[in-house]
Amino acid sequence: MASDETKILLRESEMPQRWYNINPDLPAPLAPPIHPATGKPLGPDDLAPLFPMALIQQEMSMEPWVEIPDPVRDIYRLWRPSPMFRAHRLEKALGTPARIYYKSEAFSPPGSHKPNTAVAQAYYNKQEGVTRIATETGAGQWGSALAFGCNVFDLECTVYMVKVSYEQKPYRRVLIQTWGAEVYPSPTDRTNAGRTILAQDPDSPGSLGIAISEAVEDAATHDDTKYSLGSVLNHVLLHQTIVGLEAKEQLKLAGEDGPDVIVGCVGGGSNFAGLCFPFVKDKLDGKDIDIIAVEPESCPTLTRGEYRYDFGDTAKLTPLLKMYTLGHTFIPEPIHAGGLRYHGDAPQLCLLVSQKLIEARAVHQLGTFEAAIQFAKAEGHIPAPETAHAIRGAIDEALKCKETGEEKCILIGYSGHGHFDMAAYDRYLAGELRDYEYPKEKIEEALKDLPVIEEG
Ligand SMILES: *Cc1c(COP(=O)(O)O)cnc(C)c1O
Repeated sequence: MASDETKILLRESEMPQRWYNINPDLPAPLAPPIHPATGKPLGPDDLAPLFPMALIQQEMSMEPWVEIPDPVRDIYRLWRPSPMFRAHRLEKALGTPARIYYKSEAFSPPGSHKPNTAVAQAYYNKQEGVTRIATETGAGQWGSALAFGCNVFDLECTVYMVKVSYEQKPYRRVLIQTWGAEVYPSPTDRTNAGRTILAQDPDSPGSLGIAISEAVEDAATHDDTKYSLGSVLNHVLLHQTIVGLEAKEQLKLAGEDGPDVIVGCVGGGSNFAGLCFPFVKDKLDGKDIDIIAVEPESCPTLTRGEYRYDFGDTAKLTPLLKMYTLGHTFIPEPIHAGGLRYHGDAPQLCLLVSQKLIEARAVHQLGTFEAAIQFAKAEGHIPAPETAHAIRGAIDEALKCKETGEEKCILIGYSGHGHFDMAAYDRYLAGELRDYEYPKEKIEEALKDLPVIEEG
């Protein structure tokens, strides 16, 4: 019997002690990352200039459970266990017989799920004597999370922030600076990559690809500095599984057998994987769960991409990963869900989509804002534009239940709040936002540039 509680809370002492590693439970082996220069599978030593050994080991680990270090759990306590809510008022507004829950990562200091991995990554770097971490950020969600993580472990942090965001979206830049990190509008004159771009175009607005190149170069050319990534890689998804492990306990507390439907938004895949991987294990063990990944129609990686090896960045500096991809040269339209504008997705997640254990769905921008406002009016909380994709997907599922009369249990991954996205809401409310067509030609063009890798 489902209880009537609105907030489903765990005590600090009930916070999970281990992360769940899906690698040993995957239904097929994960294709190895490939060295961009040699075309051969990567070894741990290839990654050593960029990442601390503990994270490289986690990346390749076949242990199903990984202990969360006590100093990381101590920081997690600042906002974890995170709350789960029963969306009673949204259910009523929709007139659905479904029971809707949302697991909220919006109460972390930076306001999203990203510090779950930023704090862990900062800790392992500190353990191995690293003194500074370099990274890139688009609109600043990841940069602010890493600045927070570095601050609590007393590490320096250098953030290359895409110049157009640095200038147009100053608030997350100020968060980054408040937590004591240095942040530069990219392209900068601090790296060869940046100087090359500036020589061609002194007014370059920058791009995530350029910023990645700058951060990687910074780390690779300084002994005391490593690089850090906020999504896509196995160790990042591993750290996010605390979200799903908590959610599982909270659903039990709420008197649920488990979710019938899980819905989340996908940019690189980390918040979605963090929520659903512990339940994927149950699905593999025979439970009937619909697991739905929602992405933007304008950047439809999982629904329209090809499943093959591609680079992680425009500059072709990163290892090649086997994933659904729209092509590393694909540049999506400037939708407001900036965190979902990535050409690829996490390899672990892509494998599960290719095996049809996870369903992918693409939605238009206007529909996501419509859902966000419906949600905000019913539940009060204002979701990030990225999170609004998950809400769109969940509302659609709840409306299906209304038609069929099915009393399903729907679990939403509420990845973050929208308090720094008020300009986007403003434009939506003023009727200035629009939908973008599925960019068929642009994707076909970008897919022509894909490298050919022999698999075997
Ligand atoms: C960054 C971000 C995302 C997308 O990243 P994933 O790695 O796919 O989780 C989604 N929601 C919010 C609030 C974000 O900040």
